[in-house]
Amino acid sequence: MLIDTHCHLADTRLSDTVDTLLANARAAGVCRWIVPTARCEEWPRLSLLANTHAGIQPAYGIHPWYCAQPTPDQRTWLKHLSTAVAVGECGLDLGAQGPPLTRQLEVFRHQLALARQLDLPVIIHAHKALDLVLKELRKIPVQGVIHAFAGSSQQAEQCLKLGLKLGIGMRIRQRRALRWRETVRALPLHALLLETDAPDGLPHAQNEPARLLDVARELAMLRHMDTSALIDACNHNARQLFRL
Ligand SMILES: [Zn+2]
Repeated sequence: MLIDTHCHLADTRLSDTVDTLLANARAAGVCRWIVPTARCEEWPRLSLLANTHAGIQPAYGIHPWYCAQPTPDQRTWLKHLSTAVAVGECGLDLGAQGPPLTRQLEVFRHQLALARQLDLPVIIHAHKALDLVLKELRKIPVQGVIHAFAGSSQQAEQCLKLGLKLGIGMRIRQRRALRWRETVRALPLHALLLETDAPDGLPHAQNEPARLLDVARELAMLRHMDTSALIDACNHNARQLFRL
């Protein structure tokens, strides 16, 4: 059994296909899904999915790309987070798609404060902004995962010092990312989480949670491990972080 620790099943792009995707995932042994949200427009759909499909574990948050819009009031946040396994997806993005950094920081800090207040882990997006994210986490320490970890070995070390997990996804299939693969190979087993980031994560196709086994196999091969031992360890890490 595998746990996809990051897939956007409440994304509107999947609204017509989610049942098929879940059936495909189950057939591939992926039976539990941590589902973060990028925008608060997805929240009602996610709570419906979580109430009607066993194995869907919701996380509510606002992704940095969408933080320019007004954010929900505190009551709405608390109502949704009362059923959540995490706050997220939240974070910082210094690529072209992010709104001004001051606004990103404001919305990210609010979500970190909520996570701390409610004792929930955070699911973090850090694109070209990992050092800045770590700086914020030193001020507001919380448990969490750096989703789609793409950093250096020095950055990995800083993440580990803060007790963070590192999400490994489809990037593991890029055999040419030599230095990054070497970093991932050397990470301690207790830090690893498996994720697809579906429907994103593949350059030219729609991704889906059934592909998680590809990630597990490739990561196990890189680390010279048995795939089922790797999956067991990553499941243990996911259960511990999200208290499943
Ligand atoms: Zn995501």
